[in-house]
Amino acid sequence: MALLDLIFPPRCGGCGRDGAAWCAACETAVQPVPSGTLAGISLVAGGRLEGPWQQAIHAYKYRPRPQLAAPLAEPLRRAIVAFGVSPAALAFVPLHPRRLRERGFNQAERLAAHLSRTLGVPLLSGLTRVRATPAQVGLNQAERRVNLHGAFRWTAAQGPPQALGLVDDVCTTGATLEAAARAVAEAGGSIGAFLVLAVAQTLPAPAVTSPGQFACP
Ligand SMILES: [Zn+2]
Repeated sequence: MALLDLIFPPRCGGCGRDGAAWCAACETAVQPVPSGTLAGISLVAGGRLEGPWQQAIHAYKYRPRPQLAAPLAEPLRRAIVAFGVSPAALAFVPLHPRRLRERGFNQAERLAAHLSRTLGVPLLSGLTRVRATPAQVGLNQAERRVNLHGAFRWTAAQGPPQALGLVDDVCTTGATLEAAARAVAEAGGSIGAFLVLAVAQTLPAPAVTSPGQFACP
């Protein structure tokens, strides 16, 4: 146990109880999500955005508690394995440099780094946010699409591969993931699967429009 943990015992990001950054009770409460598709691409989520899982993701991102990256990535890793998704490499949704400075870390990058280590696939940081976009909160899907148009570009010298796994924290309407996938396609690569901690339940449950299809377009 680290010295700081003895002085300040970690509190669970999900329920607030002392003892662990993410406790066993909250871990077992994560509701699995069936795999689906978004814009014709597989979408794998660690759990539904509700209860302690939602609390912990919020704490990870906004408090912020970057040390939650490893425990939060685990249910997602299990879902990736369970659904037989085997990405050639991983990429992550980038933050604009200004947002990155404010937050101090990119929540999607930390998750992707953990998944890269535990799944044994390379992590590529070629996606760049080339345009700052206003906050998405309160925008509908069409407005989000306009907001994100041209926001991403693949800027690494080496082009993106095929069948990349693209990591983000939460899929709300899917507009961000779609815009990032477009940037990868424009650079000659492809996304094999979107990999997110949680799918937002912004639409009536179940978030399924047809078998295997998320209402998360
Ligand atoms: Zn807990």
